[in-house]
Amino acid sequence: MLEFDVSWRVKGACQGLDPDIFYPDNEENSDEAISICKTCEVRIACLDYALDSREKQGVWGGVSARERRRLLRVGRRIA
Ligand code: SF4
Repeated sequence: MLEFDVSWRVKGACQGLDPDIFYPDNEENSDEAISICKTCEVRIACLDYALDSREKQGVWGGVSARERRRLLRVGRRIA
């Protein structure tokens, strides 16, 4: 099983916030999470983690699950 470095998480702008913000019941309601992620100093590490670990749900690094799937498809095509 792969292990990921998630030490960046303690610096996340989402620390202490309601997790429901980042796991909206509908992806159309991701705006609040995305705007918080835009202010986050570990956004790139967070997005890298979500892509590498294939996180299937939630907003990570300011990117919704649907958009991450699209990024992975595009990345596969380019590779
Ligand atoms: S990018 Fe968003 S989800 Fe990731 S640590 Fe920062 S605030 Fe949290």
